[in-house]
Amino acid sequence: MTRLVDVVVVGGGQAGLAAGYHLRRRGLDFVVLDAGAEPGGSWRHMWDSLHLFSPAEHSSLPGRLMPAQPGRTYPDAGHVVEYLTDYGKRYALPVQHGTRVDAVHRDGDRLLVETDSGTWRARAVISATGTWSRPFLPAVPGRDVFTGRQLHTVDYRRPADFAGLGSVIVVGGGNSGAQIAADLALEGDVDVRWVTRRPPRFLPDDIDGRALFDVATARRRALDAGRGDTGGVASLGDIVAVSPVRAARDAGLLKASPMAVRVDRHGVVRADGTRAEADAIIWCTGFRPALSHLAPLRLRGTRGRIATEGTRAVDEPRLHLLGYGDWTGPASATLIGVGRPARNAVREIAALWARS
Ligand code: FAD
Repeated sequence: MTRLVDVVVVGGGQAGLAAGYHLRRRGLDFVVLDAGAEPGGSWRHMWDSLHLFSPAEHSSLPGRLMPAQPGRTYPDAGHVVEYLTDYGKRYALPVQHGTRVDAVHRDGDRLLVETDSGTWRARAVISATGTWSRPFLPAVPGRDVFTGRQLHTVDYRRPADFAGLGSVIVVGGGNSGAQIAADLALEGDVDVRWVTRRPPRFLPDDIDGRALFDVATARRRALDAGRGDTGGVASLGDIVAVSPVRAARDAGLLKASPMAVRVDRHGVVRADGTRAEADAIIWCTGFRPALSHLAPLRLRGTRGRIATEGTRAVDEPRLHLLGYGDWTGPASATLIGVGRPARNAVREIAALWARS
Protein backbone atom coordinates (compact mmCIF):
# COMPACT_ATOMS: atom_id res chain seq x y z
CA MET A 1 0.00 0.00 0.00
CA THR A 2 1.26 3.49 -0.83
CA ARG A 3 0.41 6.24 1.63
CA LEU A 4 0.12 9.91 0.65
CA VAL A 5 1.47 12.75 2.72
CA ASP A 6 2.72 16.30 2.21
CA VAL A 7 6.18 15.78 3.65
CA VAL A 8 8.21 12.76 4.69
CA VAL A 9 11.00 13.48 7.17
CA VAL A 10 13.65 10.76 7.07
CA GLY A 11 15.28 10.42 10.49
CA GLY A 12 13.81 11.22 13.91
CA GLY A 13 16.87 12.50 15.77
CA GLN A 14 17.08 16.14 16.85
CA ALA A 15 17.11 17.41 13.24
CA GLY A 16 14.03 15.40 12.26
CA LEU A 17 12.19 16.58 15.39
CA ALA A 18 13.06 20.23 14.74
CA ALA A 19 11.68 19.83 11.21
CA GLY A 20 8.57 18.19 12.68
CA TYR A 21 8.05 21.12 15.03
CA HIS A 22 7.96 23.60 12.15
CA LEU A 23 5.86 21.34 9.92
CA ARG A 24 3.33 21.03 12.75
CA ARG A 25 3.25 24.81 13.22
CA ARG A 26 2.45 25.26 9.53
CA GLY A 27 -0.32 22.67 9.74
CA LEU A 28 1.23 20.40 7.12
CA ASP A 29 0.50 16.72 6.86
CA PHE A 30 3.73 14.82 7.51
CA VAL A 31 5.36 11.73 8.93
CA VAL A 32 8.79 11.22 10.48
CA LEU A 33 10.30 7.82 9.63
CA ASP A 34 13.08 6.67 11.92
CA ALA A 35 15.11 3.48 11.70
CA GLY A 36 15.81 3.45 15.45
CA ALA A 37 13.53 1.46 17.73
CA GLU A 38 13.31 4.30 20.26
CA PRO A 39 13.59 8.11 20.33
CA GLY A 40 16.87 9.94 20.90
CA GLY A 41 18.75 9.51 17.61
CA SER A 42 22.48 9.07 18.04
CA TRP A 43 22.42 10.34 21.65
CA ARG A 44 21.19 6.91 22.65
CA HIS A 45 24.46 5.37 21.47
CA MET A 46 27.07 7.75 22.95
CA TRP A 47 29.60 6.62 25.54
CA ASP A 48 28.68 6.68 29.23
CA SER A 49 30.77 9.66 30.34
CA LEU A 50 29.87 11.96 27.44
CA HIS A 51 28.25 15.21 28.37
CA LEU A 52 27.26 18.24 26.31
CA PHE A 53 29.70 21.03 25.66
CA SER A 54 26.99 23.64 26.34
CA PRO A 55 24.68 24.15 29.32
CA ALA A 56 21.12 22.84 28.96
CA GLU A 57 19.49 26.17 28.13
CA HIS A 58 21.92 26.57 25.23
CA SER A 59 21.15 23.11 23.87
CA SER A 60 17.49 23.52 23.05
CA LEU A 61 15.37 22.78 20.02
CA PRO A 62 12.77 25.32 18.88
CA GLY A 63 9.85 25.93 21.19
CA ARG A 64 11.06 24.19 24.31
CA LEU A 65 14.06 24.93 26.53
CA MET A 66 15.99 21.88 27.62
CA PRO A 67 15.51 21.71 31.39
CA ALA A 68 18.63 21.73 33.53
CA GLN A 69 19.87 18.34 34.66
CA PRO A 70 19.99 18.28 38.45
CA GLY A 71 23.57 18.57 39.72
CA ARG A 72 25.11 19.14 36.27
CA THR A 73 25.80 22.27 34.26
CA TYR A 74 26.59 20.23 31.16
CA PRO A 75 23.93 17.50 30.76
CA ASP A 76 24.80 13.92 29.84
CA ALA A 77 23.55 12.03 26.80
CA GLY A 78 20.81 10.29 28.79
CA HIS A 79 19.35 13.68 29.64
CA VAL A 80 19.32 14.61 25.94
CA VAL A 81 17.48 11.36 25.12
CA GLU A 82 14.85 12.21 27.76
CA TYR A 83 14.52 15.73 26.39
CA LEU A 84 14.08 14.52 22.80
CA THR A 85 11.57 11.86 23.90
CA ASP A 86 9.55 14.46 25.75
CA TYR A 87 9.84 16.91 22.84
CA GLY A 88 8.31 14.43 20.40
CA LYS A 89 5.41 13.77 22.76
CA ARG A 90 4.83 17.41 23.66
CA TYR A 91 4.31 18.40 20.03
CA ALA A 92 2.59 15.11 19.15
CA LEU A 93 5.06 14.55 16.34
CA PRO A 94 4.09 11.55 14.18
CA VAL A 95 7.36 9.64 14.48
CA GLN A 96 7.25 6.08 13.19
CA HIS A 97 10.13 4.22 14.83
CA GLY A 98 11.60 1.03 13.43
CA THR A 99 11.10 2.16 9.83
CA ARG A 100 14.18 2.34 7.62
CA VAL A 101 14.02 4.37 4.43
CA ASP A 102 15.80 2.45 1.70
CA ALA A 103 15.35 4.74 -1.29
CA VAL A 104 13.83 8.00 -2.48
CA HIS A 105 12.79 8.18 -6.16
CA ARG A 106 11.20 10.80 -8.40
CA ASP A 107 7.65 9.90 -9.36
CA GLY A 108 6.09 12.67 -11.48
CA ASP A 109 5.17 15.58 -9.26
CA ARG A 110 5.88 13.53 -6.12
CA LEU A 111 8.78 11.84 -4.44
CA LEU A 112 8.39 8.15 -3.70
CA VAL A 113 9.86 7.05 -0.37
CA GLU A 114 10.50 3.31 -0.14
CA THR A 115 10.89 1.86 3.33
CA ASP A 116 11.32 -1.62 4.78
CA SER A 117 7.63 -1.52 5.65
CA GLY A 118 5.85 0.17 2.77
CA THR A 119 5.95 3.15 0.46
CA TRP A 120 5.04 6.82 0.87
CA ARG A 121 4.30 9.40 -1.82
CA ALA A 122 5.22 12.90 -0.72
CA ARG A 123 5.32 16.39 -2.15
CA ALA A 124 8.64 16.98 -0.38
CA VAL A 125 11.24 15.08 1.63
CA ILE A 126 13.44 16.36 4.44
CA SER A 127 16.42 14.09 4.93
CA ALA A 128 17.73 14.22 8.52
CA THR A 129 19.61 10.96 8.88
CA GLY A 130 22.73 12.35 10.56
CA THR A 131 26.17 10.80 10.33
CA TRP A 132 26.35 8.34 13.22
CA SER A 133 25.41 5.36 11.05
CA ARG A 134 28.33 6.08 8.69
CA PRO A 135 31.53 5.89 10.72
CA PHE A 136 34.59 6.76 8.68
CA LEU A 137 37.79 4.73 8.82
CA PRO A 138 40.85 6.13 7.04
CA ALA A 139 42.70 4.00 4.54
CA VAL A 140 45.77 3.39 6.71
CA PRO A 141 47.71 0.46 5.24
CA GLY A 142 47.81 -2.69 7.33
CA ARG A 143 44.59 -2.13 9.25
CA ASP A 144 43.46 -5.62 8.41
CA VAL A 145 46.60 -7.33 9.77
CA PHE A 146 46.40 -5.91 13.31
CA THR A 147 45.78 -8.80 15.70
CA GLY A 148 44.24 -6.77 18.56
CA ARG A 149 40.79 -5.22 18.90
CA GLN A 150 39.77 -2.40 16.57
CA LEU A 151 36.85 -0.11 17.28
CA HIS A 152 35.42 3.14 15.99
CA THR A 153 34.02 5.95 18.16
CA VAL A 154 30.55 4.45 17.66
CA ASP A 155 31.65 1.23 19.42
CA TYR A 156 33.20 2.88 22.49
CA ARG A 157 31.19 2.80 25.73
CA ARG A 158 33.35 2.85 28.87
CA PRO A 159 36.92 2.28 30.17
CA ALA A 160 35.89 -0.90 32.00
CA ASP A 161 35.44 -2.61 28.62
CA PHE A 162 39.24 -2.46 28.26
CA ALA A 163 40.04 -4.05 31.61
CA GLY A 164 42.87 -6.54 31.31
CA LEU A 165 44.38 -4.93 28.24
CA GLY A 166 47.83 -3.42 28.50
CA SER A 167 47.62 -0.50 26.14
CA VAL A 168 45.17 1.22 23.84
CA ILE A 169 45.90 3.55 20.94
CA VAL A 170 43.35 6.29 20.33
CA VAL A 171 43.57 7.75 16.82
CA GLY A 172 42.17 11.18 16.03
CA GLY A 173 42.70 14.78 17.08
CA GLY A 174 39.07 15.90 17.23
CA ASN A 175 36.62 16.06 20.11
CA SER A 176 35.81 12.34 20.14
CA GLY A 177 39.48 11.34 20.14
CA ALA A 178 40.35 13.77 22.93
CA GLN A 179 37.37 12.81 25.06
CA ILE A 180 37.83 9.07 24.67
CA ALA A 181 41.57 9.31 25.30
CA ALA A 182 40.83 11.41 28.42
CA ASP A 183 38.15 8.98 29.60
CA LEU A 184 40.52 6.02 29.31
CA ALA A 185 43.47 7.91 30.79
CA LEU A 186 41.50 9.18 33.81
CA GLU A 187 39.24 6.22 34.51
CA GLY A 188 40.81 3.22 32.79
CA ASP A 189 43.47 0.81 33.89
CA VAL A 190 45.33 0.89 30.60
CA ASP A 191 48.24 2.71 29.05
CA VAL A 192 46.75 5.19 26.55
CA ARG A 193 48.60 6.45 23.49
CA TRP A 194 46.94 9.21 21.54
CA VAL A 195 48.00 9.69 17.93
CA THR A 196 46.84 12.64 15.86
CA ARG A 197 47.54 13.83 12.32
CA ARG A 198 48.67 17.23 13.56
CA PRO A 199 49.37 18.55 17.06
CA PRO A 200 46.07 18.80 18.97
CA ARG A 201 44.52 22.26 18.95
CA PHE A 202 42.58 22.91 22.16
CA LEU A 203 40.08 25.74 22.19
CA PRO A 204 40.60 28.24 25.00
CA ASP A 205 39.27 26.78 28.25
CA ASP A 206 36.55 29.41 28.61
CA ILE A 207 35.01 28.61 25.21
CA ASP A 208 32.10 26.22 25.18
CA GLY A 209 29.30 25.45 22.73
CA ARG A 210 27.67 28.85 23.23
CA ALA A 211 30.65 30.65 21.72
CA LEU A 212 30.98 28.04 18.97
CA PHE A 213 27.42 28.66 17.89
CA ASP A 214 28.01 32.43 17.76
CA VAL A 215 31.18 31.96 15.71
CA ALA A 216 29.49 29.60 13.23
CA THR A 217 26.58 32.01 12.84
CA ALA A 218 28.87 35.02 12.31
CA ARG A 219 30.75 33.11 9.61
CA ARG A 220 27.56 32.20 7.75
CA ARG A 221 26.35 35.82 7.93
CA ALA A 222 29.68 37.09 6.59
CA LEU A 223 29.65 34.60 3.72
CA ASP A 224 26.00 35.35 2.88
CA ALA A 225 26.73 39.07 2.85
CA GLY A 226 29.65 38.54 0.46
CA ARG A 227 32.23 39.51 3.06
CA GLY A 228 35.37 37.44 3.61
CA ASP A 229 35.42 34.07 5.30
CA THR A 230 35.87 34.66 9.02
CA GLY A 231 37.23 31.14 9.38
CA GLY A 232 34.46 29.85 11.62
CA VAL A 233 34.92 27.48 14.50
CA ALA A 234 37.89 25.71 12.90
CA SER A 235 39.91 28.89 13.14
CA LEU A 236 39.69 28.72 16.95
CA GLY A 237 40.78 25.12 17.39
CA ASP A 238 39.47 21.58 17.13
CA ILE A 239 38.89 20.42 20.67
CA VAL A 240 36.48 21.88 23.21
CA ALA A 241 38.23 21.70 26.56
CA VAL A 242 35.38 20.00 28.44
CA SER A 243 36.28 19.24 32.05
CA PRO A 244 37.61 15.64 31.67
CA VAL A 245 39.73 16.74 28.69
CA ARG A 246 41.06 19.66 30.71
CA ALA A 247 41.78 17.42 33.68
CA ALA A 248 43.63 14.82 31.59
CA ARG A 249 45.54 17.47 29.66
CA ASP A 250 46.56 19.34 32.82
CA ALA A 251 47.67 16.09 34.45
CA GLY A 252 49.95 15.46 31.47
CA LEU A 253 47.93 12.42 30.40
CA LEU A 254 46.91 13.75 26.99
CA LYS A 255 50.15 13.93 25.08
CA ALA A 256 49.70 13.27 21.39
CA SER A 257 52.22 11.72 19.07
CA PRO A 258 52.29 11.89 15.26
CA MET A 259 49.76 10.01 13.20
CA ALA A 260 50.20 6.40 12.25
CA VAL A 261 51.21 5.89 8.64
CA ARG A 262 50.87 2.14 8.85
CA VAL A 263 49.39 -0.53 11.08
CA ASP A 264 51.18 -3.81 11.64
CA ARG A 265 50.29 -6.94 13.56
CA HIS A 266 50.94 -5.43 16.98
CA GLY A 267 50.45 -1.69 16.71
CA VAL A 268 51.13 1.36 14.59
CA VAL A 269 54.15 2.78 12.84
CA ARG A 270 54.38 6.57 13.04
CA ALA A 271 55.57 9.00 10.40
CA ASP A 272 58.91 9.37 12.18
CA GLY A 273 59.46 5.60 12.00
CA THR A 274 58.81 4.94 15.71
CA ARG A 275 56.38 2.19 16.66
CA ALA A 276 53.70 1.97 19.32
CA GLU A 277 52.34 -1.41 20.31
CA ALA A 278 48.81 -1.86 21.59
CA ASP A 279 46.13 -4.39 22.38
CA ALA A 280 43.41 -2.21 20.90
CA ILE A 281 43.06 0.69 18.49
CA ILE A 282 40.11 3.06 18.71
CA TRP A 283 39.61 5.00 15.48
CA CYS A 284 38.06 8.37 16.36
CA THR A 285 38.27 9.41 12.77
CA GLY A 286 34.90 10.93 12.09
CA PHE A 287 31.77 10.28 10.12
CA ARG A 288 30.23 10.83 6.72
CA PRO A 289 26.65 11.91 6.00
CA ALA A 290 24.24 8.95 5.80
CA LEU A 291 22.78 9.62 2.37
CA SER A 292 22.61 6.25 0.62
CA HIS A 293 18.78 6.37 0.53
CA LEU A 294 19.08 9.38 -1.80
CA ALA A 295 21.28 7.61 -4.36
CA PRO A 296 18.39 6.98 -6.84
CA LEU A 297 17.98 10.76 -7.23
CA ARG A 298 21.48 10.96 -8.72
CA LEU A 299 22.26 14.38 -7.28
CA ARG A 300 25.49 16.24 -7.82
CA GLY A 301 27.90 16.48 -4.93
CA THR A 302 31.43 16.13 -3.67
CA ARG A 303 33.05 14.46 -0.67
CA GLY A 304 29.98 12.34 0.01
CA ARG A 305 27.72 15.40 0.19
CA ILE A 306 24.96 16.75 -2.04
CA ALA A 307 25.09 20.25 -3.51
CA THR A 308 22.74 22.48 -1.49
CA GLU A 309 21.61 26.07 -1.26
CA GLY A 310 20.78 26.47 2.39
CA THR A 311 19.10 23.15 3.05
CA ARG A 312 17.58 22.71 -0.44
CA ALA A 313 19.19 20.27 -2.85
CA VAL A 314 20.30 22.35 -5.83
CA ASP A 315 19.15 19.73 -8.35
CA GLU A 316 15.95 18.64 -6.60
CA PRO A 317 14.00 21.49 -4.98
CA ARG A 318 11.58 19.10 -3.27
CA LEU A 319 14.43 17.66 -1.21
CA HIS A 320 15.97 19.34 1.84
CA LEU A 321 18.97 18.13 3.83
CA LEU A 322 19.04 19.00 7.49
CA GLY A 323 21.50 18.66 10.33
CA TYR A 324 24.55 17.11 8.67
CA GLY A 325 26.98 19.95 9.30
CA ASP A 326 27.72 23.55 8.44
CA TRP A 327 27.09 22.81 4.76
CA THR A 328 23.37 22.49 5.61
CA GLY A 329 23.24 25.54 7.91
CA PRO A 330 25.57 27.10 10.47
CA ALA A 331 26.02 24.73 13.42
CA SER A 332 23.12 22.66 12.06
CA ALA A 333 24.66 19.49 13.51
CA THR A 334 24.06 20.85 17.02
CA LEU A 335 20.97 20.98 19.18
CA ILE A 336 20.77 24.74 19.30
CA GLY A 337 21.83 25.25 15.69
CA VAL A 338 19.35 23.02 13.88
CA GLY A 339 16.23 25.06 14.68
CA ARG A 340 16.87 27.86 12.24
CA PRO A 341 17.68 25.75 9.16
CA ALA A 342 14.68 23.54 10.03
CA ARG A 343 12.43 26.59 9.98
CA ASN A 344 13.91 27.78 6.70
CA ALA A 345 13.50 24.35 5.09
CA VAL A 346 9.81 24.17 6.01
CA ARG A 347 9.27 27.76 4.91
CA GLU A 348 10.84 27.01 1.52
CA ILE A 349 8.75 23.87 1.08
CA ALA A 350 5.56 25.83 1.79
CA ALA A 351 6.66 28.59 -0.62
CA LEU A 352 7.38 26.05 -3.36
CA TRP A 353 3.81 24.80 -3.18
CA ALA A 354 2.39 28.29 -3.08
CA ARG A 355 4.22 28.97 -6.36
CA SER A 356 3.13 25.74 -8.01
P1 FAD B 1 21.12 11.64 14.58
O1 FAD B 1 21.03 12.00 16.00
O2 FAD B 1 22.16 10.68 14.16
O3 FAD B 1 19.69 11.09 14.14
C1 FAD B 1 19.49 10.55 12.87
C2 FAD B 1 18.33 9.58 12.96
O4 FAD B 1 18.07 9.12 11.65
C3 FAD B 1 18.63 8.36 13.81
O5 FAD B 1 17.60 8.18 14.75
C4 FAD B 1 18.69 7.20 12.80
O6 FAD B 1 18.15 6.02 13.33
C5 FAD B 1 17.83 7.74 11.68
N1 FAD B 1 18.17 7.20 10.37
C6 FAD B 1 19.39 7.13 9.78
N2 FAD B 1 19.28 6.59 8.54
C7 FAD B 1 17.96 6.33 8.36
C8 FAD B 1 17.21 5.79 7.27
N3 FAD B 1 17.78 5.42 6.12
N4 FAD B 1 15.87 5.65 7.43
C9 FAD B 1 15.28 6.05 8.56
N5 FAD B 1 15.93 6.57 9.62
C10 FAD B 1 17.26 6.73 9.52
N6 FAD B 1 25.86 18.74 19.66
C11 FAD B 1 25.51 19.65 20.60
O7 FAD B 1 24.62 20.46 20.37
N7 FAD B 1 26.13 19.67 21.82
C12 FAD B 1 27.09 18.76 22.14
O8 FAD B 1 27.65 18.81 23.23
C13 FAD B 1 27.46 17.76 21.17
N8 FAD B 1 28.37 16.80 21.46
C14 FAD B 1 28.62 15.81 20.55
C15 FAD B 1 29.50 14.79 20.87
C16 FAD B 1 29.75 13.77 19.97
C17 FAD B 1 30.71 12.67 20.32
C18 FAD B 1 29.11 13.76 18.71
C19 FAD B 1 29.37 12.65 17.72
C20 FAD B 1 28.25 14.78 18.38
C21 FAD B 1 27.99 15.82 19.29
N9 FAD B 1 27.13 16.87 18.97
C22 FAD B 1 26.80 17.80 19.91
C23 FAD B 1 26.60 17.00 17.59
C24 FAD B 1 25.16 16.68 17.30
O9 FAD B 1 24.26 17.22 18.22
C25 FAD B 1 24.86 15.23 16.95
O10 FAD B 1 25.70 14.77 15.94
C26 FAD B 1 23.39 15.01 16.60
O11 FAD B 1 23.05 13.79 17.15
C27 FAD B 1 22.97 15.05 15.13
O12 FAD B 1 21.54 14.94 15.09
P2 FAD B 1 20.77 14.41 13.82
O13 FAD B 1 19.33 14.44 14.15
O14 FAD B 1 21.24 15.15 12.63
O15 FAD B 1 21.31 12.91 13.63
